[in-house]
Amino acid sequence: MICDNLSVNNGHLNFAGVDTVDMAAKYGTPLMLLDEGKIREKCTIYRNAMKKYFTPDSMPLYASKALSFKYIYKIIASENIGIDCVSAGEIYTAHQAGFPLERAYFHGNSKTDSEIRFAIEHGVGHFVCDSVEEVAAVNEIAAEMGKVQKVLLRITPGIDPHTHKKISTGSVDSKFGVAIETHQAYELVEGVLKLENIGLDGFHCHIGSQIFEYDPFCDAARIMIRFIADIKKMYGYEAKTLNLGGGMAVRYTEDDPEIDYDANIKGIAELVHSLCDEFGVKMPNILMEPGRSIVADAGMTLYTAGYLKEITGLKNYISIDGGMTDNPRFALYQSPYTVLLANRMDEASDYKCTVAGRCCESGDIIQEDVMMPKPKRGDTVAVLTTGAYNYAMASHYNKVPKPEVVMIKDGEDFTVIKRETYESMISNEI
Ligand SMILES: *Cc1c(COP(=O)(O)O)cnc(C)c1O
Repeated sequence: MICDNLSVNNGHLNFAGVDTVDMAAKYGTPLMLLDEGKIREKCTIYRNAMKKYFTPDSMPLYASKALSFKYIYKIIASENIGIDCVSAGEIYTAHQAGFPLERAYFHGNSKTDSEIRFAIEHGVGHFVCDSVEEVAAVNEIAAEMGKVQKVLLRITPGIDPHTHKKISTGSVDSKFGVAIETHQAYELVEGVLKLENIGLDGFHCHIGSQIFEYDPFCDAARIMIRFIADIKKMYGYEAKTLNLGGGMAVRYTEDDPEIDYDANIKGIAELVHSLCDEFGVKMPNILMEPGRSIVADAGMTLYTAGYLKEITGLKNYISIDGGMTDNPRFALYQSPYTVLLANRMDEASDYKCTVAGRCCESGDIIQEDVMMPKPKRGDTVAVLTTGAYNYAMASHYNKVPKPEVVMIKDGEDFTVIKRETYESMISNEI
């Protein structure tokens, strides 16, 4: 199986030690299951590796856009790591969960004045500023509030990490950050150092997502350490922090290679230490922002199979009781997924069919041409590795309620997000 929290017992798929078919019967479908032990295991790998290989104050920040709800912020808080937030809504949710916001980093290329004010008021530790105008706005609002706001500046290193173009963010023409190539990054730093209500802590870059090799991170680190050295020479300012962003991959299918996160971090750290020596700068504290690799394989989605449509000589479709409303990723970027019939794991996978969602869109597909036992109405369809960017991207299209989310912890199951009701869906409608 693609992850060690999966097994088979009596022909049923088990996840985090529980029978998924029982879970579907108990809670109904569509249902998202989460494995708390796996989330904590990943936090621990990142936290320990970063302290050990970079510096004792280096730390992972969970990129909470991957899956944002109250209980997960409690897990992250107790794991003693930070978070990356991209909206006042995420900051609010973390705050409601009691997350210590001094460990939060506020991202985003379009922060509004009211969000900036909200974040400063709530004591968000750092902003990651994306543009010249944003830094000016933060400076002005912080001044009004009598505060000095710590910031990192988002720099575009000009790297192509060989991933899908919609999740590649580090190249010079990106909508994110300020480019080194055009010299605008240097001008930004020069300007920021003069602002009284901004405390510059260092720099940030994020090259993209679902990156398997660690070379692109090394390329980014090289460019960023050279940038830090240039800035030191030009303006006498030495960065305390370098945030290398998120983007480490996860396994969605058996075709994906195994990933050793500890070894990747070690490899990046060795290079960063040697680059600091080479360029004559002090080793900064390193931050990384894993989102997908913290939660993706800690999640799975269960559906109930609907109708089997066999188009003679052409294609077979099995419909399910969810789809792009809870998992839009195939529709957005043809993401690969492993799909299993959770109640028939002992049978041969000798039937090819496409798993189709319930929405009125031909593009509402979960996965094309999957091999499975010939499905029938009422089977439990399991889609693996759905912890990241599924529930977080869920919508009410076709007025489909969002699914229930159930956490599994030490073999116990409990609801962490209730299933939406028709009433709750229309609660804002006049
Ligand atoms: C999306 C994003 C992340 C998380 O990326 P993953 O691929 O989920 O690890 C981290 N940092 C920034 C700035 C992002 O935009």
